[in-house]
Amino acid sequence: MSSDSAAVDSEIVVLDNGVPTAARVYDVMLNGKDNYAIDRQVAEASLSVMPELKEIALHNRAILHRVVRHLAAEQGITQFLDLGSGLPTVRNTHEVAQEANPDAKVVYVDIDPIVLAHGRALLQDNENTRVVTADLRKPKEVLAHPDVQELIDFSKPVCVMLVGILHHLADDEDPKGIVQALRDAVVPGSYFFITNFTRLSDSPESEELEKVLLSQLGTGRVRTPAELEEFFEGLEILPPGIVPLPLWRPDEIVTDATTIGVRFMTGGVAKKN
Ligand code: SAM
Repeated sequence: MSSDSAAVDSEIVVLDNGVPTAARVYDVMLNGKDNYAIDRQVAEASLSVMPELKEIALHNRAILHRVVRHLAAEQGITQFLDLGSGLPTVRNTHEVAQEANPDAKVVYVDIDPIVLAHGRALLQDNENTRVVTADLRKPKEVLAHPDVQELIDFSKPVCVMLVGILHHLADDEDPKGIVQALRDAVVPGSYFFITNFTRLSDSPESEELEKVLLSQLGTGRVRTPAELEEFFEGLEILPPGIVPLPLWRPDEIVTDATTIGVRFMTGGVAKKN
């Protein structure tokens, strides 16, 4: 992809059509190589208003590892539906879950076909993992997808992962209704793991970033803590609550929790009873 032309695998060709995508902009933040000049432009514009974004992307990956490890190793969750999964990066959900339980099933779902192109090559020998191209804005179609139906047994608890994805849905796309539809589709004992951009009332950067993302990427809605809490409605939120990502059951002590890098994304885990 460094040629800025095309990403190719045996079944899919992803062309650089001059439009940035969230998956590839996020890849820039994680210092990945699967991005085009147009994605790097959006990343640079975003970093110019919030230089901490690379640190924040790493916090988002780190909480994913802690949550999946906790649910697979300590709560006996054996199925993970990772929605808006992004490009497969180092230590992705299936690696963490299957380290705790080799039989754990993981389905990655993303709207960007580049995720499928990379995922297929990476996961061809892993029968407990699938990559699906689907649009979260149509949750019924996501749930009915043959690969989702084949791997996930909806009569058993599932962890539904909405990690860094709901801010890519506009208010009029009804993200709350989408979470509710997913909640209704899973059995009690299932978990929801959500992280999101958070509006910081004491710093203009969060609003500035929203402006840059909405104008250049077309998505990137920065929501207030109250709006984020609504996504967890009807669910039992696990301690320590909806918190800045590094503060969710940290492996290491966080020495300064006041920075934008720590606070801009918040998240939590909740159980359906
Ligand atoms: N979940 C990963 C993580 O936190 O490391 C990746 C998050 S990345 C910031 C957001 C992902 O959501 C991108 O890969 C993007 O393609 C995907 N996405 C955006 N809108 C989507 C939609 N409507 N349906 C499915 N995926 C979507």
